[in-house]
Amino acid sequence: MEELLKVKANVESALFEIAEAACSAGRKPEDVTIMAVTKTHPVEYITKAVECGIRHIGENRISEGGRKIRQLGNEYAVFHAIGVLHRKEVRQAVRDFHCLDAIHKIEIIEEIARRKADPRILLEVNTSGESAKMGFQPDVDLLESVLGRALELKLSVRGFLTVGPLGNDPTEQRRAFANLREIRDSLETRLNVVLPELSMGMSDDFSLAVLEGSTMVRLGRRLFGSRNFLPY
Ligand SMILES: *Cc1c(COP(=O)(O)O)cnc(C)c1O
Repeated sequence: MEELLKVKANVESALFEIAEAACSAGRKPEDVTIMAVTKTHPVEYITKAVECGIRHIGENRISEGGRKIRQLGNEYAVFHAIGVLHRKEVRQAVRDFHCLDAIHKIEIIEEIARRKADPRILLEVNTSGESAKMGFQPDVDLLESVLGRALELKLSVRGFLTVGPLGNDPTEQRRAFANLREIRDSLETRLNVVLPELSMGMSDDFSLAVLEGSTMVRLGRRLFGSRNFLPY
């Protein structure tokens, strides 16, 4: 696995870019964490990322991620489920993952609570309005009621996740990220809670996300090169 030789250098250059963006926004570089997204890759990619100092690992499928997590033991890293989570997968998800970062339906919230599980959760918001994207609409009243319900059920809601708009119009990308930060700010005030986590930014747009307040960037290709789309 020759591509793994570059991971260390890729982590360092990503950290450098994060620091530049953070500083130019008047933020501290250490307030931004890298999540390594290892979907489609074998378990060695996770161990390599951890060797390079990464503690947060993202997988978008519950079954594939769960298999790797059980292989390594779930104390090995902080494991995040970042893909669509179906109701029937909740049982396995709360057993294997520490964080469920892409909650997009109230019924999933109800199911987590019903199982008396307490993962850290993020609500996914569709800031771009693209129909192919998952997530709640970026509507403060709607999100207030969803969040209110999750808090009533005593779930540990830590903040929000979004996937930036397709294409590479930096103005539009920044607007989407800024929109989610503003929504978070107003919900903190309305509900008198802290929602510290904004999971925003992927390989192609993470610097812009950091400029707009991202606390966690989700990097796949930037660290590991292109993904294999073979059956896995
Ligand atoms: C695959 C994936 C990523 C990582 O994407 P890259 O473009 O490879 O950095 C981040 N977030 C989510 C939700 C993903 O599914």
